[in-house]
Amino acid sequence: MAVEGPVVRWVADHRKHHRFSDAEGDPHSPWRFGETLPALLRGMWWAHIGWMFNEEQTPQQKYAPDLVKDPVIRGISRHFVSFTLLSLAIPPLVGGVVTMSWWGAFTAFFWGSLVRVALLHHVTWSINSICHAVGKRPFKSRDRSGNVWWLAVLSCGESWHNLHHADPTCARHGVLRGQIDSSARLIRWFEQLGWARDVRWPDASRIASRRKPVTADPA
Ligand SMILES: [Zn+2]
Ligand SMILES: [Zn+2]
Repeated sequence: MAVEGPVVRWVADHRKHHRFSDAEGDPHSPWRFGETLPALLRGMWWAHIGWMFNEEQTPQQKYAPDLVKDPVIRGISRHFVSFTLLSLAIPPLVGGVVTMSWWGAFTAFFWGSLVRVALLHHVTWSINSICHAVGKRPFKSRDRSGNVWWLAVLSCGESWHNLHHADPTCARHGVLRGQIDSSARLIRWFEQLGWARDVRWPDASRIASRRKPVTADPA
């Protein structure tokens, strides 16, 4: 419904990103073209949008064999176009019925379908471009993922990206004091409703083990 491509393809790309993050083989690293400012700007464009048009695609059989084997997930993945149409059709339907007017349907389509998906895409893509170029890096990770505070509310906590790479299975990305993470709250509610299980929550020792050692300033 987020119009981010078939789910199996999404997962395969994402796992490959974790495996090679910011190194050769990462499907969307902003450091792909080098370290100079022009190279970084070109790389950020690549990480934001360009990589999706790359002809070389992540082999799904290699990176997501578990999902390829799952008939339900495979079905959801195959019906990506139908889900996209549904995702775009629901707002104008609701808008039209609630206001009983074509204008209501049109404005709902504009805001609820087009603007929503565009905003969602740019926030998601910003995790790949901005959160791998700038941000604080208090945790140990093999890459250049950073925590970007000003994207936290819009990205529902996803922009605490340095923690995500330091501890990819952790259900909460914003683990430090004051770090807003609304996705973690949603996962917690799902867990309480019995819809999510085996959720891995952070605890103090787990967070501490992933923190960079505090080095004393050289005198
Ligand atoms: Zn990343
Ligand atoms: Zn990830």
